[in-house]
Amino acid sequence: MKLLYNAKFYSIRKEGEYFVALLSDDNGLIKEIYQQKPNLKNVEEIDLNGAFVYPGFIDTHTHSFEGGLYSLGANLEQAQSLQEVFELLRETKPISGKIFAFHFEENNIIEKRFPTAKELDHIFPDVPVILRRVDGHSCVINSVAAKSIPWKQALLQAFDGHLSGRWNGSASNWFHKNMDDEGILQAYHKAAEIALHGGHTAVHAMIGDSFSDPKHYKLIHDNLSQFPVEFILYPQITNVEIALDLGAKRIGGCTLADGSIGSHTAALAEPYLDDPENYGILYRSNEAWEKHIRNAHAHDLQVAVHCIGDAAIWQILEIYEKVQRENPKDLRHEIIHCELTSNDVLDRIAAANCSTVMQPMFDRLWAGSGGLYETRLGKERTNRTNRLASIYNRNILLTGGSDWYITEINAIKGIDAAVQIHNEKERLTPFQAVEIYTKNAARLSFDDDRFGTIEVGKEANLTCLKNDIFASDKIAEIEVESIFRKGEKIY
Ligand SMILES: [Zn+2]
Ligand SMILES: [Zn+2]
Repeated sequence: MKLLYNAKFYSIRKEGEYFVALLSDDNGLIKEIYQQKPNLKNVEEIDLNGAFVYPGFIDTHTHSFEGGLYSLGANLEQAQSLQEVFELLRETKPISGKIFAFHFEENNIIEKRFPTAKELDHIFPDVPVILRRVDGHSCVINSVAAKSIPWKQALLQAFDGHLSGRWNGSASNWFHKNMDDEGILQAYHKAAEIALHGGHTAVHAMIGDSFSDPKHYKLIHDNLSQFPVEFILYPQITNVEIALDLGAKRIGGCTLADGSIGSHTAALAEPYLDDPENYGILYRSNEAWEKHIRNAHAHDLQVAVHCIGDAAIWQILEIYEKVQRENPKDLRHEIIHCELTSNDVLDRIAAANCSTVMQPMFDRLWAGSGGLYETRLGKERTNRTNRLASIYNRNILLTGGSDWYITEINAIKGIDAAVQIHNEKERLTPFQAVEIYTKNAARLSFDDDRFGTIEVGKEANLTCLKNDIFASDKIAEIEVESIFRKGEKIY
């Protein structure tokens, strides 16, 4: 048994509740919590150096495989010219015989364009290369990759290497599918390491690219105990039978109802401000979604769908409402992102018992004055994005996530963004912000009897910070001191 002391342990069960010492048993469960450090015999005493302790943080939405994989590849975030992009690519080592690069943003590049396939061929004549845009919604590949991919239809456009929409999906799917087990596990190990660094003890991981390929899912499921953090797995597919065969409790993830605001592909009820003919794209018909969601619901699978624009949220919500009305179940179907909403829609989400899996960092990155959302949507609609407080106050199950690799996997930065949402009316309090990465996150995966708060009987999953989130005006700068999972120090 271990006695952890010299710290302030916030239970997150209710606001203001804390303890000063905690006893963890040999199974890694919390055996006792104390208002004063006790004198116990035959226990290992662990001094936490005055840390502030929270239930282990949980990121409820990541693409951990891509995040890990791309962290092993080239990060183009800082590149300012194509020359710099090419230099970074030259330094990159292949994984499973392929070159991966991510975080490309053409607007940060002086040439204001993507590299071409020809330019990539020049550096890599024989090794397949994929370079993905920062939002993941388009990519560039080289010629050897284009020749290797079994396209279902002929590439329609004159091929210059740049792919978006379904072509982007097929290309990234081919790269991810054609990796050996060693490369896949290497990516998840890297992901777990980075997740730990960001303060997490559990991470929801979307596996697959909407195509019904369960290969990675099986491999990771069989190797779950290898990783320091707990991966909560989502087969990111639309084939219910395969999900059931895998023994999954949920299905989906960023299975796309629509695209992104940055790419003008998020489906909107009113057109884009900067493209008045364009309403974005609903990727699948109502009938296709209804068939899928109805089937999953009937088989007790929790459904998760990526919905950014208001029209996409309507499309999916209407079906969630329908299946709940006909056959009410507590499955907590997920609306992932839930970016643009009205009060009326939020009332409906509450009534349908759906959950919202949100990314506070999206607001930080794109919703500011003069930012991307204002350009695309205008001020009024931008004020209706990331409505954290309105969602929280309606008692909708609200959880936090990074959508890593889209944003950094770092709960502390997510908490900071949630308390500083641009629209002041939508800010969470620091306590509420911690709840969405702990207690609420555990409820999303039906694990609230196991973790999510610091309580007797739960796993001793603890994120220990050097400063107090509840007494800091610079939350984002707070550093992780140590992390425990089931009583074991893992960071
Ligand atoms: Zn996602
Ligand atoms: Zn998404």
